[in-house]
Amino acid sequence: MIFLDNASTTSLCKSGVENLLKYSQELFYNPSASYSVGFENYKQIQGVKALLAKKLGVEFKNNIIFTGSATEATNLAIFGSYRKNWKKAVFSAGEHPSVYNCSLELEARGVKVEFVDLDQSGAVDLEKLSKALDEDVAFLSIMQVSNETGAINNLEKIFALKQQKCKNAIFHVDGVQAFGKLNVDLTKFNPDFYTISAHKFHGPKGLGALYAKNPQKLKPVTLGGGQEYNLRSGTENLPAIMALYGALNELKETDFARVTKINQAFKEELKKNLEPKISLKIMEGENFSPYVMSLSFKGIKGEVLQNLCDSQGLLISTGSACSSKKSGNRILENIGHTQEEIVGSIRVSFSRETTLEEALEGANILANCTNTLWRNTR
Ligand code: PLP
Repeated sequence: MIFLDNASTTSLCKSGVENLLKYSQELFYNPSASYSVGFENYKQIQGVKALLAKKLGVEFKNNIIFTGSATEATNLAIFGSYRKNWKKAVFSAGEHPSVYNCSLELEARGVKVEFVDLDQSGAVDLEKLSKALDEDVAFLSIMQVSNETGAINNLEKIFALKQQKCKNAIFHVDGVQAFGKLNVDLTKFNPDFYTISAHKFHGPKGLGALYAKNPQKLKPVTLGGGQEYNLRSGTENLPAIMALYGALNELKETDFARVTKINQAFKEELKKNLEPKISLKIMEGENFSPYVMSLSFKGIKGEVLQNLCDSQGLLISTGSACSSKKSGNRILENIGHTQEEIVGSIRVSFSRETTLEEALEGANILANCTNTLWRNTR
């Protein structure tokens, strides 16, 4: 089986598995317990937070909150910040459902919500963003890397625009498809909140984290025993947090260059083996993450292609896994893809574990399946 759907999830790394077991069995003690082994686990968690803060380029000052997912982290950033006097909130049209659906809830609460269109490259249109930002804006949320297309937003420019137009607006960045893949340095775009998800970079599922520049300004969304600075109550998921520690330690500077080569090799092999008459559109360019690739085959149904690839041992996606149950694609539509291009679109995504052999074989299977479908429909 060749797995090229790593934007949906990745396998847990070796030291993550070891820590998951160790802190589920041998050292399972509740980190909030007042006896020594419990306190020892609490200190371990602080160590993981400190390492995560370091990898984000910031100092650790009780500014990392662990949650049950990135979705939950985003909900905390948005609804923990929300105040009744909010007039306006601005979102990019490319946001993941975990942000997009929160924006709809804000609208239902009476906030004026504006979605800023994406340009043809899939990044947020900076001119339109500039027009949308004004002094009424209380909250701005822009993702760093698109889970649909891999397009990277220029967060430095976006932060500069925000400072110019609405200095006091709260700035949230969904970093789920960026952190652990791209070099992330929060000091470059100074977000108030930054969301990550452990399972996207060989950490465990069911663990998200929210970086909060000023956590004291947040109101809790989950009430209970007061864990996570009273902002996200519930017994800490110690095994998962320690598994994340493993994943953070296994991140390598060289991963990005490796995946860039894999991405390139995949594209070349696919183009080489595809019937020349089949029109293929790949979203690519300078400002794209090499980990995610959106492709569209004219005259082919992405869903049928995905099923055929599955039967041939290649796992890919027809879009974000979280939204694949819904018809259409709000994001590709916004970029300006035609209906035919949307129907024919698939997403291929790599991880540092993807080998060159897998990428080449995957490209061959994809080309063969596309060729078969194309011939069958002529
Ligand atoms: N944001 C983006 C960009 C994503 O790709 C995903 C998951 O696909 C999420 C948020 C949600 O992450 P989680 O599964 O941890 O809730």
